Amino acid sequence: LHRSKSTHPDVKERTLIAVKPDGVHRRLVGQIIQRFEQRGFKLVGLKMLQVSEDLLSQHYCQLTSKPFYPSLVDYMTSGPVVVMVWEGHNVVQSSRTMVGPTDPAAAPAGTVRGDFSIHVSRNVVHASDSLEGAQREIQLWFQGKDLLNWDCCDQSLTMEE
Ligand code: UDP
Repeated sequence: LHRSKSTHPDVKERTLIAVKPDGVHRRLVGQIIQRFEQRGFKLVGLKMLQVSEDLLSQHYCQLTSKPFYPSLVDYMTSGPVVVMVWEGHNVVQSSRTMVGPTDPAAAPAGTVRGDFSIHVSRNVVHASDSLEGAQREIQLWFQGKDLLNWDCCDQSLTMEE
């Protein structure tokens, strides 16, 4: 298979990670960012915001009819969120593994949810669950101009060139 060295065809995979309001209130932002940095992923976008109900209903469009949706809105608007885009090989699936299952009771130690949370309604972090979901969520939360294309100086050490 021919691969051009300059275009790095497999490094452009991106995912959306958000530290939810409980994670921000509990001062977990730094520890969560550290896990993605130390794994070798590249940060390409980051911002802090108070989420609107409108944005939330688009983000969770498949959940708006669920019985827990009203409490999910209260939770997600209870303080600021820190939302990020991370890039790297297999980042969508690897991030889901790092974050752990939706219900922290089922999350292994070593995952973000398994280390920092107890209950499904306060599970600290969001991670896109598929490539398509990641693309949709990134477009929803970020403008293209706010995502940076940049070469990290250690890229040759974390990625096959
Ligand atoms: N959630 C909840 N109760 C439930 C299921 C989900 O409060 O019974 C919340 C929880 O915060 C979860 C979010 O809704 O992270 C989105 O649910 P989803 O099934 O998309 O899980 P995720 O992709 O976040 O693991």
